[in-house]
Amino acid sequence: MTSVPPMAVEQPPIFHVEAERTPLQEAVASELGEGLASSGFLVLPSQMEGFVQTGEPKESVEVVNFGTGKKPCPTPVTVRTVPGALVAPDAAPMVCPCCGGAMERHGEVAVTLWHLPMGMDRTRVVVSRQRWACASGHTRIDDVPFKAEGHRVTVPLLNYVRDLLSLGQTLKSVSLMTGLHKNVVKEIDRARLEGLYTEVGEDGGRRLRRPGDQARYLGIDEFKLHDGHRYATVVVDLETGHVLWLAHGKRKQVVYDFCDFVGDEWMSRVVAVACDMNASYERAFLERHPHLAVVYDHFHLVKNFNEKVISEVRKDEQRRLREEGDEDAAKSLKGSKYILMTRADTRLGKDRDARAGKVVSRGNELFGKDEARQRGGNRERYEELIAQNELLSTCDIVKEALAKAYAYRQEKRMRDCMEGIVEVCRGTGNEHFEWFANLVEGHMDGIVAHARHRISSGKVEGTNNTIKSLRRAGYGYPDDEYFFLKIFDASRRYSPGRESVAA
Ligand SMILES: [Zn+2]
Repeated sequence: MTSVPPMAVEQPPIFHVEAERTPLQEAVASELGEGLASSGFLVLPSQMEGFVQTGEPKESVEVVNFGTGKKPCPTPVTVRTVPGALVAPDAAPMVCPCCGGAMERHGEVAVTLWHLPMGMDRTRVVVSRQRWACASGHTRIDDVPFKAEGHRVTVPLLNYVRDLLSLGQTLKSVSLMTGLHKNVVKEIDRARLEGLYTEVGEDGGRRLRRPGDQARYLGIDEFKLHDGHRYATVVVDLETGHVLWLAHGKRKQVVYDFCDFVGDEWMSRVVAVACDMNASYERAFLERHPHLAVVYDHFHLVKNFNEKVISEVRKDEQRRLREEGDEDAAKSLKGSKYILMTRADTRLGKDRDARAGKVVSRGNELFGKDEARQRGGNRERYEELIAQNELLSTCDIVKEALAKAYAYRQEKRMRDCMEGIVEVCRGTGNEHFEWFANLVEGHMDGIVAHARHRISSGKVEGTNNTIKSLRRAGYGYPDDEYFFLKIFDASRRYSPGRESVAA
């Protein structure tokens, strides 16, 4: 048997598009080489005025650690190196700036600059520059107009880094995205922040830039620094939320310094200042600017009540129950801090959600988690807690009365309500309530001033949260100046491109 050769399978015809080049492709091919005119290339503006590409990019691979020192994650990354040169400067003969003699061409010097990445692939350009020499031996090299000052980076990359930072990206993520070292990114960030928020003073040193807009309502507050023992003070424009001033310490001097910083005229247009009661800010402001209304806002008063009364009463009560051997009752108080500090409408809202079967945490099969729905019975739990304890029930009364007082728009009604609160507190005979009654009585005028100047404390609260999250992100220690400028920046929003550096 002779084997039959397998039948030749007829191949489908391949339609080959005969490359008929466009004039541009022709130009690219003749200028830069065949490679760039072929498939897979993209000819784009480089955003570098004066740069001319002189050949095809060379690819290499660099291993980059995308993890940390402890948990390294080495990853190969493509680096494209694009050769280029500067557009020939004007034909006029170069004159030596030192001796005035004519300069002749004297070799070339190359500089390597990091440029905009493409995805995770990194790009750098190698630019050869003309070197000139005069007869007396002075030399000079052509400037690269698109090089960022102080860094081996192109101006388009510098602007990209600044945009990413102004959008709130961390130093580390910007470093991984652009391939620049974290310290270089930090230097760029610091220069960006200094440019935005500082200026050169008469003595030649840097000082904070004065606010451009007139504020009508200010908020002042203290926040803890990294070590938790020292404090700093922040002044906020309550309408815009912009941080206007930051300084170490929580003393009156900070207020004097702020007033000097913005000047008398600026301060004369400020209507009111919101602050916490147990700081000395009030007196300092009034000494300098008696026209100001000082307002003790709801946020701070509630904060004082929560931290110094509810929290303490609950602890005392727990201790007492334990001493009396009522371990169960002590335990039920243990997890009650949050529910005791909530407001009635929050509790009611949660119970309503529970009845409606609101899902607070979606279940998922992937991670074997069941769906969680809002737990109800908040009102019952709360009522049970306060029914067992007279002091806790008084906390409830005071808390609700405070919310009511701060809703009034007439000073008289607000004062009546606050005086009622003082009476209720005194009636308990409890030391913590006494403390609060004294606090309210000693600051009554500033509290009821809220009826006239309805200052929202939301912006102060927001600033406190921003500061906390920046500290957590590691911007704090050990560089306070940088940390403070970051706080200024985080209170404002910039759109990309607004802060670009011109090439
Ligand atoms: Zn010379």
